[in-house]
Parts: sequence; structure tokens; C-alpha cells
Amino acid sequence: MDNHRITRRTTILTNHLRHDPPTAPTILHNHACLSHSPPELSESNPTTFDTFEMRKLLDGHNLEDRDWLFGLMIQSGLFNRREVDGRVFVNPDYNQSMEQQREMTMKRIAYLLDRGVFRGWLTGDGPQEELRKLALHEVIGMYDHSLAVKLGVHIFLWGGAVKFLGTKRHHDKWLRATENYDIKGCFAMSELGHGSNVRGIETVTTYDPISGEFVINTPCESAQKYWIGGAANHATHTIVFSQLNINGSNQGVHAFIAQIRDSDGNICPNIRIAECGHKIGLNGVDNGRIWFDNVRIPRENLLNSMADVSPSGEYLSAIKNTDQRFAAFLAPLTSGRVTIAVSSVYISKISLAIAIRYALTRRAFSITPNGPEVLLLDYPSHQQRLLPLLAKIYAMSFSAIELKKLYVNRTPESNKAIHIVSSAYKATFTWNNMRTLQECREACGGQGVKTENRIGQFKGEYDVHSTFEGDNNVLMQQISKALLAEYIACQTKNKPFKGLGLEHMNGSCPVIPSQLTSSTIKSSEFQIDLFHLRERDLLKRFAAEVSEHQSQGNSKESAFILSYQLAEDLGRAFSERAILKTFMEAESALPAGSLKDVLGLLRSLYALISVDEDAAFLRYGYLSTENASAVRKEVPKLCAELRPHALALVNSFGIPDAFLSPIAYNWVESNSWSTAQH
Ligand SMILES: Cc1cc2nc3c(=O)[nH]c(=O)nc-3n(C[C@H](O)[C@H](O)[C@H](O)COP(=O)(O)OP(=O)(O)OC[C@H]3O[C@@H](n4cnc5c(N)ncnc54)[C@H](O)[C@@H]3O)c2cc1C
Repeated sequence: MDNHRITRRTTILTNHLRHDPPTAPTILHNHACLSHSPPELSESNPTTFDTFEMRKLLDGHNLEDRDWLFGLMIQSGLFNRREVDGRVFVNPDYNQSMEQQREMTMKRIAYLLDRGVFRGWLTGDGPQEELRKLALHEVIGMYDHSLAVKLGVHIFLWGGAVKFLGTKRHHDKWLRATENYDIKGCFAMSELGHGSNVRGIETVTTYDPISGEFVINTPCESAQKYWIGGAANHATHTIVFSQLNINGSNQGVHAFIAQIRDSDGNICPNIRIAECGHKIGLNGVDNGRIWFDNVRIPRENLLNSMADVSPSGEYLSAIKNTDQRFAAFLAPLTSGRVTIAVSSVYISKISLAIAIRYALTRRAFSITPNGPEVLLLDYPSHQQRLLPLLAKIYAMSFSAIELKKLYVNRTPESNKAIHIVSSAYKATFTWNNMRTLQECREACGGQGVKTENRIGQFKGEYDVHSTFEGDNNVLMQQISKALLAEYIACQTKNKPFKGLGLEHMNGSCPVIPSQLTSSTIKSSEFQIDLFHLRERDLLKRFAAEVSEHQSQGNSKESAFILSYQLAEDLGRAFSERAILKTFMEAESALPAGSLKDVLGLLRSLYALISVDEDAAFLRYGYLSTENASAVRKEVPKLCAELRPHALALVNSFGIPDAFLSPIAYNWVESNSWSTAQH
């Protein structure tokens, strides 16, 4: 140890033992301290490709609109703007009480409304309007989940239900009023007793032909509407999902509009509302419970695009198949799944940008006697904790854009594909987000625990992504079920696979070389072959297992439930193959150059880490143990190749400094004594 280090160590130990704490200037002036070097200066190769071009690829659309909205939030005092070490940060104050957070959410909505942010969100039409709305909603989510969810419930769920399930009379009356916030809508589907199983809800609506009104009732405690965003404090109207009982015959789940508060905020007669209480996150949203006691609404309040009841009480529906009718009632949830999937990618981006910037300035331990301490991101282990997650987020960014484009250009023919892809991506991206948040939180050590550094707080805020608008596990089952239906249809009708990316099933089975070289492993042809092989084989195995259970006397539904392990494996194989395919398409559309090169590295890392993490490749023999080891060995090599690009890769996210956090910048200065005095 040199003299300087000995003196420093002795001082620290002495200070621990001293009764009186030393005055700050003694420590600060006598000894050299760690100093922060911005990675833009310390990295030998800070910009290895055009980060703006990369951002254009990753955001995909409406960059100027996004930047405009970032600016609106940064400028306003309503967004809890703070200056730390001369740098502005905006981040909600999560120390506020639940009630205060809810009121702040409404004030922020009013501010954004005044500035025209929601213009056209319900009254606009066409893919461009929809993409603008999605882009702006993503930016709002990067500020605060409560703000995004409160808006999402009002616009996407309430407004979406009016738009998709209603007809002209509903559109004329409600869409502009919703966009302008003349009324505040909520969406009451879930009940205490039934969440994922929407078909089982117990709220009952009957029709009274004498008054021409529907009568809504909560017949028992398990039928109370539960978790309804906006219901506890602010909503004036709700969509009520309910069984429709006409002359003693149940016509299944239908959607109605009911008023629950007057314009002064008083709860309407025959409605009871209670709180859901404090949550692990999302406390700026007033989730509530609702009971209906003989609530009467006009006949016109049935959202009647799928079915209607005549004034005399006759039930009319063009969709005779009850399964199809029920599926149509769930249509508003698709946009929610799209926004949740995409939003989780942006939250992962924020956390990776913070954790990687921190890892480029934070040092821990020297590995040579008098040498400098090692930068966190120079540890291969730290690289492997963060860079594969970065590769996944690059991959998922391209898939997110693909999903949005599929959604905004939807046609009746593409509805099935949208349902399957949005379910797959919603589950995959949100699970990946939670994993990313945990890893990034830990990668920042104790600093990751501070609320101001965002990542830790995000864990509570975004956890619910895996549950609402389709529980992830239930969604994954639905994907496998849909793939099985596709498989059986192609087999029985002897027709080729078409759509959902399953065309590879029409060709011959890919053959994996018995001895893999490094260059083969990094080739996109090998990677997609391996993913195709897994998906193809799992689909066949799944079909065989379900059929085997059926042949033992189980019903189709039971056989499916019993085959859950393969269903899970298949859902994952489908999602990861779809993501890899989209990544490859984005990469191949680029001209040769530095952008394409770095994306090639990321694509390989995405593919190989996915292989390394899924036991199915070994379990079902798609790779020999030698080949699985060879794949695993490439991962650290790719991480090392990507290490010099790390800063440019997170800067390409285009996230303003204000939306990151103090540890992404000069964390020594932002924690200095002088800062603590303010
Ligand atoms: C913060 C928050 C906000 C919400 N906002 C709204 C809102 O505004 N409007 C609204 O209508 N709802 C809302 N919800 C409700 C949400 O949609 C439901 O919580 C969700 O659908 C899950 O239902 P559940 O809670 O009843 O769980 P359950 O459906 O009971 O699921 C519990 C567990 O059982 C598992 N499970 C369920 N079915 C199966 C099966 N077939 N096979 C195997 N496992 C299964 C699930 O995977 C899950 O792990 C909100 C929820 C939360 C937490």
C-alpha cells in the first residue's frame, strides 16, 4: 500500500472511532477523493456510430412529437422539477400521500390537456393519428406510470370501449367529451370473484320493457367491481361489463354505460363506491370498488355494435356464435396490451441507461497492487449482467414497432394475429422488464435503492404489468392454444401454414451441425434455424401430448391444462422466434456500415442468451451439450465486443437527462456536502 492510501485508510478508521465527527472541510480538503469523469470524456470511443440514426430506428416514429412532450413536462413546475448539480430532473414525488399523488395526476392531465397533447386521441382516425397517440402515451409513461394508466383507462379502455363496442349514437355523445375531459370514464370489467375469467362475472343486467331501461345489479359480494381505475375518486361514468339476462335467458357478457358521479363529484343514487387502498405502486391512480343496486340506465346505453335489445325487449345479434361474440367484447383490451408491452420496453431503457452510465463511472476494487479500481462495466461479470439485457431491449424495440404497426393498420383479417402477437409480447416484454429492473437495481448497488434514482421505484410501479389487461400466464396459455388450433387446422385440411410467422413449418426440418464453430454460432441463419427447430418441435410435441391425454379419456380442455409445461415452453419459443425474426428483418434492411455491424452483435447476443437461458434446447436435444457449451462461450465474447459501444447504445435511446437520474451523471457532486445543505 502506498503512503497516500495508508494515510487515507487511517483517517477513515480514526474517524470511525472518534467521538466527535470531523468537520466536513477537514476531510474534503486534506485528501484526494474519487472524482467523477463523465463517460463521454472517459470512454476512449464514446460514439461508435450515429446515435441519432439509431434512435430513429428504435423509436420508429414521431420523434419530434416525443421531444415536444418531453419538453412540455421538463418546463413545467407540475412535474416535480428538481435541479441537482446544475442538472434538471423530473420525477414524481412518491413521498406524497396517496390522495396527493392522485390529485397531482389530475393536475398533470389538465396541464397536458390544455397544451393539446390528447388532440385526436379518440376523434382522430388513421394510422398516423394512432401512432402519434401511442408515441405520446409512451413518453408520458416514462415520466410516471400512474399518469399513463389514469389516461390509459380514460382514453384506451373507457374511450376504446365506446369506440369499438358502441355505435354512432355513442360516438357522437361521448368521444369528443372524453377527449376534452368533459366527463371522466372508467372501465368496470373485473370483479372480486372473477378477473382473468371475465366470462364468469356475476353482475347481472335485466331489461324492463315498460320503462325502456336496463337494470344493473351486484347480486353478491364476489360480484363487486374491483380494481376499477378512476372509480375511487374521479370517474363520472363507467363501462359496466355484465351478464345480460333477457326473459330469464342469459345472453352472456355485454357492455353498458352507467353514470356513477354527477359533475360535482357526488356519487349517484343506487351506486356504492369504496377504495381499493394503498398499493405497492401506482398510487396516483384511484382504484375503487363499485356495487350496483338496481341502477337504471336508458336502453340506448347498451354498447350495441355486436348485439342489441329492441324497445320491446327482443335480443338481436348478428353474431350467433357466443364464443365469437364474447371475444369481440374483449376488443378494447388489445390496445391496452399493445401500450403495456411497449411501455415496458421504454422503462427497461431508462433503467439500462441509468445502470450502464453508472457502471461507466463507478469503480470497485483494484486488481493490481497500486492500480486504479476497476470500472464496473470492465468486469466481464458486470457486462454479462447488463449487456444481454441491453441486447434484449434492442430486439424488443423492433418488435414493439412491428406490433404497433400491425395494430394501427388492423383489418378484420389481421385481428387474430394481433391478438396472439400482442398477448405474446405483452407477457414477454413485461416479464423481461421486471427482470431488467431487478438486475439494474442491483447493478447500481445501494444507489439503486434511492427513490430519486428511479429503478427501484419502478419495480413497484410496473409489477402490475404482468397481471392487468391479461394475466401473463393466462395469455401464454392462450398463445399455445391458438398455435395448436392452427396446427390442427393445417394437419386436418392438409394446407400449408400461413401467418404468425409459422411458414417455416412448411419447409424441411432445420439440421444443426454436429460441431459448431464460432462463426456459425454468430450467423443469423444458424440462429433462426435453431429457433425454428425449437418452435416446430415443441408445437408437434404439444399437439401429441394433448392428443395423448385426450385418448386417455380427458376432455380437450383438461388435456390442454395437463399439458401446461409444453404450453409454457411453446409460448416462449413462439415469442422469442418472432422477436428474433423482426430483429433480423430490421438489420437486413440497413446498408452496410457501423449501425448494421453493431446491430449484428446485438442480434447475436439476443439469440445466444435466449438459447443459453432456455433449458428446452438441451432438454429436447436441439443442441448437444458440447454445442450448448460452445454457444455459452460466445456470450462473454460478444459482451466484450459490445462493451466499447455501451455508452453510444444507451445514448441512442434518446432519453433526456431529466428523465434519467442523478447516478447517471456526476453522483459524487450530486451527493456533496454542499448539495446536502439545500
Ligand atoms: C392496479 C390494478 C389496476 C387494475 N385496473 C383495472 C381496471 O381499471 N378495470 C378492470 O376491469 N380491472 C382492473 N384490474 C384488474 C385486473 O385486470 C385483474 O387483476 C386481472 O385480470 C387478474 O385477475 P385477478 O386479480 O382476479 O386474478 P386471477 O384471475 O384470480 O388470477 C390469479 C392467479 O391465478 C392464475 N390463473 C388464472 N387462471 C388460470 C388458469 N386458467 N390456469 C392457470 N392459472 C390461472 C393467474 O396466472 C394468476 O397468477 C386492475 C388490477 C390491478 C392490480
